[in-house]
Amino acid sequence: MASEKVDNERRAMRWGLTCDKGECQERVNKNGKEVFEVCKFKPTINQVEENTQDSPSCHYYMQKYDALVSKHSLWNYHAFFTIMKFNKKLFEEYLDRKITVFDEAHKIEDQIIQFVGFDIFSGQIDECNLNSEKYDFTDLDSMIQLTDDMAFSYAKKIKDIKESAAFQNNPDYELITGLERRHDRSTQAKIDIMSDKDNFIVNNPVKDLNGNFRIISVKPIDVSKFANSFFETEYQIFMSATIDKSSFCENMGLRQDDVAFVDTQKSPFPIENRSIELLNIRRLSYGSTEEDELEVIKTIDRIMDEHSDERGLILTSSIPRCQKIIRYLSHKNTQRIRICHSKNKDGKTQDEVISEHATDPTGVLLSSSLWEGVDLKDDLSRFQIIAKVPYPNYTEKRTRAKMDKFPLWYTSQTLTKILQGFGRSIRSEDDWAKTYVLDTAVNNVFFKGQQMIPKAYYDVLGMDNV
Ligand code: SF4
Repeated sequence: MASEKVDNERRAMRWGLTCDKGECQERVNKNGKEVFEVCKFKPTINQVEENTQDSPSCHYYMQKYDALVSKHSLWNYHAFFTIMKFNKKLFEEYLDRKITVFDEAHKIEDQIIQFVGFDIFSGQIDECNLNSEKYDFTDLDSMIQLTDDMAFSYAKKIKDIKESAAFQNNPDYELITGLERRHDRSTQAKIDIMSDKDNFIVNNPVKDLNGNFRIISVKPIDVSKFANSFFETEYQIFMSATIDKSSFCENMGLRQDDVAFVDTQKSPFPIENRSIELLNIRRLSYGSTEEDELEVIKTIDRIMDEHSDERGLILTSSIPRCQKIIRYLSHKNTQRIRICHSKNKDGKTQDEVISEHATDPTGVLLSSSLWEGVDLKDDLSRFQIIAKVPYPNYTEKRTRAKMDKFPLWYTSQTLTKILQGFGRSIRSEDDWAKTYVLDTAVNNVFFKGQQMIPKAYYDVLGMDNV
């Protein structure tokens, strides 16, 4: 926690000089004894509530506590779910609200999954004096054994410290609390998994550049039985333009009878502003031929020529596909392209690439990650090309397992992403953009997922309104 002033925020992030993963405490030696000391910038929630905090106080905690003590507050999912998972008891009186509104509700599963199951870091294994080579990081039983050994080791550490003369003379409760928390998490992880072993899957371990083990995570396939602990107010409102009632309820563990569903009959945006052409060029999949791929890229070229004086967006399913598109486009259209991902090779952020795009009157963004959460309003994009249907990554173990268990989930994930993609360039009533879909596989997704398509899309997809 040594402080350092760095003017360049991005460099600070790259150097890891941030507080975001810290526990806001450090071990210090006082009178020959190791104790934990809390960061001197950290205010208490009572100070913030009474406006008596020191100045300067930590910006992060000021924001967080301000939100907790306010009548209404706006949170990002990660910050809110962190509290719901780990600090619910601590902030109980501040969480007693009547309604929670969850925006972009189609993304909730991705958020919850980060909080259930568990991650074990190599540092924890070292702290417990365990040998990571003793465990099989592909096997669930071996991971259960690891959580068990960790819990045992933490319990022994706690017992030894409590019985020590040093502790009897001068108890260090912060140290004990930290160990107890890690003990409880290991124990809880084992209980969660043992309660429903078939529901958990061991992901591939993350290793460092030298091949040393860094992190292993064990995640549930079905999050529904954990979801309700994140939704505890009397009423919840889930908002999204792309969810359907039955798959959402199944996924979130909600009883359909407890849920009122509002499916807006008609989009508030005029149909002529959001036209969609399903061009059915070729079906793209692992089995497609080179000719199929090139035919799709040729069509992208043609559409870009037709929109030669406008900005646009091309969406596809993976980074290699982006690279292939850029390799085979005509020279003049390649000059218009900016590849944009959440992390980019040249270190630019997504926002920086989009800002550059805004200054290029005929720029076209090419991405496998801008399917959602990006706002290309007005002439930031007047045409969008969906080159390939964005199926979830089938090579991930959890995706495969979830698909086997819930076949419709795979379709609903794909459909949601396509529908989200449709909305990237039409952001208001007066905004307009033309959408072209090139991959024939989209018909199959619409057919399999027809019950899940919200009514507001029926007109542009030529479906009968019911
Ligand atoms: S209290 Fe704030 S400044 Fe201090 S370590 Fe935590 S996040 Fe950083």
